[in-house]
Amino acid sequence: MAVASKNKLRRYPSVDDMLMALNPSYPVMCFWPDLCADVVRQFTSGFPGKVMYAVKCNPHPLMLSAIYGAGIRSFDTASLGEIALINELFDDVSCYFNHPVKGRAAIESAVRVFGIRDFVVDHPAELDKLTAIAQPDAAIQVRLRTPSGVATFDLSAKFGADPAMAVELLQSVDARGYRPALSFHVGSQCVVPKAYRTALEIVADVIDKSGVTPAYINVGGGFPACGMEQTPPPLGDYFDEIRKASAQFGFSGEIPLICEPGRAIVARAASLVVQVHLRKDDRLYLNDGVFGCLSELVYGGIIPPMRPVRMGKPHSDELQPFTLFGPTCDSSDVAPSQFALPVDMAEGDWIEIRDIGAYSNALQTNFNGFHTDTFVEIHPELG
Ligand SMILES: *Cc1c(COP(=O)(O)O)cnc(C)c1O
Repeated sequence: MAVASKNKLRRYPSVDDMLMALNPSYPVMCFWPDLCADVVRQFTSGFPGKVMYAVKCNPHPLMLSAIYGAGIRSFDTASLGEIALINELFDDVSCYFNHPVKGRAAIESAVRVFGIRDFVVDHPAELDKLTAIAQPDAAIQVRLRTPSGVATFDLSAKFGADPAMAVELLQSVDARGYRPALSFHVGSQCVVPKAYRTALEIVADVIDKSGVTPAYINVGGGFPACGMEQTPPPLGDYFDEIRKASAQFGFSGEIPLICEPGRAIVARAASLVVQVHLRKDDRLYLNDGVFGCLSELVYGGIIPPMRPVRMGKPHSDELQPFTLFGPTCDSSDVAPSQFALPVDMAEGDWIEIRDIGAYSNALQTNFNGFHTDTFVEIHPELG
């Protein structure tokens, strides 16, 4: 297993130890592999089926290695790049190519180079494309559209077949001799456990109308991360809802379930440590921003917890609201809401932005030459 081969892996007992060692004027992403492994174990012990990880959420090799180390051997991948990454890091794993729209060349490479046997479609034209290339033993999941309004990020506006089309697709997959399966995604950061029951009810209806028994049902991701401003229901409530609904609809014991969470597994397992490079009154200019690892402050409206850090003398207890700007020259590189920080914030102070493991480094750009490329691991047991 190759881990972070180019960069020397740096481990510290705490964020403050990292700051003392590196005194960084550049942003540092800090991963807690143990926190990540804890959540993986909550899934593998609580979810009534197989647990995969959605690579897009945080594809950093350190995070992937923590997830692999906790026992995950199947990965939800959306591109040839993700499939190659997983296959370069690990030997004994399988990738599911779960993007509903794939280039022909990508399908060919996925099949011929990587031996992929699980795919997703949500349209007859994609099914034609796929069955011209995929091996006959492949499983083809029909992705269902689910109702919106239960999650922070809707993932059914772009993808997903309505029930009538799903019935046709499922029958067509079956008739062509492939293994039919069903999948959905209730939307990311879903705060309503019942959303999975609603989706499984649609699944039951599609199975009933098609007369086709799927090889498996993939309930997707969407499980929420806690630690942000809202406190979502515990993961156990989601697992109970899924277990009860699948018993009620007659799946349990009959049709295997799969889930493919991203956010819930990695969100709390990372902090981003940024430095204040200039203060102008109530404006702080930081070295990472919304074109970097903080785009979900805009697109998801997330409000991550922040901890100001200064080596030596402590900050004032008195707080005031600050506007946080990122490093690029674009005026839109700013956090959409203000954050309460000590009144004596100054150049050189750091801010630890917590619970930022999901959709952070995965989405950063190189805009203006700014890029967060220092990743370290925090191991409290080293302290
Ligand atoms: C993004 C995505 C996931 C992961 O979603 P989370 O909300 O991060 O758990 C899983 N499956 C598919 C198909 C996705 O697009």
